[in-house]
Amino acid sequence: MIKAMVTAADGRVVKHARVPTGARDGGAAVLARLEDVGAQLVRAARAAGIGQPAAFGLAVPGIVDEAAGVARFAANIGWRDVPLADRLGRRLGLPVTLCHDVRAAARAEASFGPAAGAGDFLLVQAGTGIAAALVLDGRPYAGAHALSGEIGHVAVAAGAGRRCGCGGTGCLETVASAAAVARRYRELSGRRVTRAASVARLVTAGDPAARRAWDEAVGALAGALAWCQGVLDPGLVVIGGGLSRAGPVLLDPLARELAGLLTVQRIPRLAASTLGDGAGCAGAALAARSAAGLPPWPRSGPAPWPG
Ligand SMILES: [Zn+2]
Repeated sequence: MIKAMVTAADGRVVKHARVPTGARDGGAAVLARLEDVGAQLVRAARAAGIGQPAAFGLAVPGIVDEAAGVARFAANIGWRDVPLADRLGRRLGLPVTLCHDVRAAARAEASFGPAAGAGDFLLVQAGTGIAAALVLDGRPYAGAHALSGEIGHVAVAAGAGRRCGCGGTGCLETVASAAAVARRYRELSGRRVTRAASVARLVTAGDPAARRAWDEAVGALAGALAWCQGVLDPGLVVIGGGLSRAGPVLLDPLARELAGLLTVQRIPRLAASTLGDGAGCAGAALAARSAAGLPPWPRSGPAPWPG
């Protein structure tokens, strides 16, 4: 789903929109859709009395060269070396700031929600896929190859486990993504459940198969977080993405498992994101404001997306 919004300089959100991504139609179709959505937003800004917007922010998944404004690779959309910032900028007549989706979400988390003012923290997005973003002094760190945070494609079951879409075997995503939790529950129970949220509800209701599928995912996530803790020592880990909507059903056992895995390392504070699925959209807006030299978003108001 493409999430879009128009904001005024004072942080007021004057329009929200959701448009199906339609990734099955291919990369060119998705790009055309983005151009249409962008043109609609520019018209909405004019209709709201804002006039011509100062900047346009765009957050996309995959491998993103933020400095060059190029989507290097997005497996699910079919993009390879697409100069998104240039293409959209020419169509809309606006400067376009391109961001990686999870790093954009981290930027929003650094301004709103449990990480506001934290400076340094780790965001782990656990939903359709699993990826993290390391924020240092309020800024997401991209890494040498723009691949920092790709923890979803590190094997947690070395030499065993399922094949992953990345070509590897036993990746964290094959055990702990929302799809993996639902699939594991189907295997264990024989029941037709397609959503991790349903498995979370069954955990609360005392269903033993749901408990087992959930515990396996939590155990794998805790193992990944333990490694992150050993390398980075964050004081705060924000959990976002679809699984985080389970709230204490996820965070309580995750904190227990993590505490059991750590020895000399300190246990980080775990908090669920409060920005919902609009964190990436809000982060793209923040990045565009920054690039355009606008003042930071006023933190006193409500978060820029109805999470
Ligand atoms: Zn993988």
